[in-house]
Amino acid sequence: MKYLLLFLIPFIARWVVRYHQTGSIFPAFYLSAKHKDFLEKNFEFYQKLPLKSKQTFERRVAFFISSKKFIPREMDQVTWEMKVLISAAAIQLTFGFPKVHLSWFRYILVYPETFFSQANQQHHKGEVNPRAKTIVLSWKHFVEGYLKPDGRNLGLHEMAHALRLENRIMNEEYNFLDHEILEQWEARAKRTMSEIINGTESFFRKYGSVNNEEFFAVAVENFFERPLEFKERHPKTYLTLSQLLKQDPVLLEKN
Ligand SMILES: [Zn+2]
Repeated sequence: MKYLLLFLIPFIARWVVRYHQTGSIFPAFYLSAKHKDFLEKNFEFYQKLPLKSKQTFERRVAFFISSKKFIPREMDQVTWEMKVLISAAAIQLTFGFPKVHLSWFRYILVYPETFFSQANQQHHKGEVNPRAKTIVLSWKHFVEGYLKPDGRNLGLHEMAHALRLENRIMNEEYNFLDHEILEQWEARAKRTMSEIINGTESFFRKYGSVNNEEFFAVAVENFFERPLEFKERHPKTYLTLSQLLKQDPVLLEKN
């Protein structure tokens, strides 16, 4: 009995931490019919998935929701609709990595609009703070990102930052991006960023030339929002990103 208790201690400790962070002891693996229906009506990536992949997507969204603490800021609550869509954005990006749920990031802070960032004393639409294990989003801009396929998507942009950090921070999910492909990607990014700066590149917005992290986030936005144009304008960059993320949104366009 004593040994059994000793054996259980790490599990109990984990449950206590988990309960403190998310309000539930066990992770969830199933989405309710209401949530699935909501995804079907409101989330294009999910709509386009084949049936089997839809089921995987649902399970992963359910797990993501149950493993994060959603915190409302300057508003009363983070509604279930917000939780489903924000989690769906994370799973869209990580769909090629069945085990990656951005586990370093425990907290998702949602503001109704732009918010004042203490980090750099400016108003922001989104931010990822690895030290605070937090992803912060303006709900208004999150929604706007999914309304038009114009290569701008706040949710995917911030999740892309979180993904790169998750890959670098040593934790249970770490080092999952292929080294060789990542190197090829960085070389392409460097070249394209200088083309943006000297004005010979116009597909990616200017903000992508700020640094490697921003270029990756901007490229991810375009990868999902305008995959056909991306592939046509920059076939090698598209292919590299598709290999890096282990998925190809152009294939979904043909469904
Ligand atoms: Zn950014």
